[in-house]
Amino acid sequence: MRYQDFQKHLQSELEEIKNAGLFKEERIITTPQRAAIKVKTGEEVLNFCSNNYLGLSDNPKLIEAAKNALDTHGFGMSSVRFICGTQDLHKKLEQTISKFFGTEDTILYASCFDANGGLFDPLLTDEDAIISDTLNHASIIDGVRLCKAVRYRYANADMNDLEAKLKEAQKQRFRLIVTDGVFSMDGNVAPLDKIYALAEKYNAMVMLDESHSAGVVGKSGRGTTELFNLLGKVEIITGTLGKSFGGAIGGFTTGKKEIIDMLRQRSRPYLFSNSIPPLIAAAGIKAFTMLSDDNNLQDKLHENTSYFVSKMQKAGFDIKPTESSICAVMLYDAKLSQVMADKLLDEGIYVIGFSFPVVPKGEARIRVQISAAHEREHLDKCIQAFIKVGKELKVIG
Ligand SMILES: *Cc1c(COP(=O)(O)O)cnc(C)c1O
Repeated sequence: MRYQDFQKHLQSELEEIKNAGLFKEERIITTPQRAAIKVKTGEEVLNFCSNNYLGLSDNPKLIEAAKNALDTHGFGMSSVRFICGTQDLHKKLEQTISKFFGTEDTILYASCFDANGGLFDPLLTDEDAIISDTLNHASIIDGVRLCKAVRYRYANADMNDLEAKLKEAQKQRFRLIVTDGVFSMDGNVAPLDKIYALAEKYNAMVMLDESHSAGVVGKSGRGTTELFNLLGKVEIITGTLGKSFGGAIGGFTTGKKEIIDMLRQRSRPYLFSNSIPPLIAAAGIKAFTMLSDDNNLQDKLHENTSYFVSKMQKAGFDIKPTESSICAVMLYDAKLSQVMADKLLDEGIYVIGFSFPVVPKGEARIRVQISAAHEREHLDKCIQAFIKVGKELKVIG
């Protein structure tokens, strides 16, 4: 009785989501995450939609490090960090991350969603300003909502708009510019050189979310700060262990010492949520150390991405300019992007079509994500499938 009205309400809302074609289903995978995966129905498909950019999700060295940590450090911490949830492994991972990004200190979280959720409120008050790119990740938007600072939004990567907002924000005490390093739908990189110059001109700090860029962007995968020669310069970087660096779980904020010190005192997801398990910390240390020791995976990812983009452009596809490993194959039509993704799956290529409201109206696309786990034959098979289906659907001539 108590539930009936609410149940009806939810049923009709769910029906609306389905009718709008927005209902999300989960596809069951029965193998580890990698380039060639098996789905529950038994067929093998090539995976071009994961964030496993460096192919570390099933890396034997990470798995070994995780197994060893289970033996030496146990399974779980049963505590938050500041009570009894900090092991040597947590401190070592924080130091390893700081070294990788050339920053002063690092604080771990259970996810980057938590890192962003717990970032702003501890640092800024209603006297201050947050100036945020409109295409920033949901976790940034939520984190900013939890903070009392005055909010300004600027159009995606639009430096004129950012400058206008910075001028307005001179009224406030401190200003923080907030941007994703790579925007996940287009694969474009934030123009950090220009953002940094404006930050200097208008006395603002910079926060960068490197979730899709760390491990990917820059010659050695240090991310957007490496690409623009600004390593160690921005005040705050957030990132995830859930994409390039093994893909399990975990996030971090890295940057200026006093900022990290304050987050350890006041950041709620750090104070009130559990420590990451030791096996995750150990595998994370391994991932960052491997990527510092040699550049093979980063090089392979960059080669794979340029190979894929140039072949696709040659075939006549409209690819958004990208400096990451996200390649948006533009189709502009929502229905077409759905049909094309389905047909590609029939060809053994797993990609996702995106349309409104995830991307603007009339900008539907298929997003392809390239990985160092892809071999040349995987890329060729994907390109061939795109050409075959593209011709069938008259996307290319
Ligand atoms: C994926 C992503 C996150 C969330 O990371 P999790 O560790 O999975 O919570 C946050 N910000 C950006 C920009 C992301 O792409």
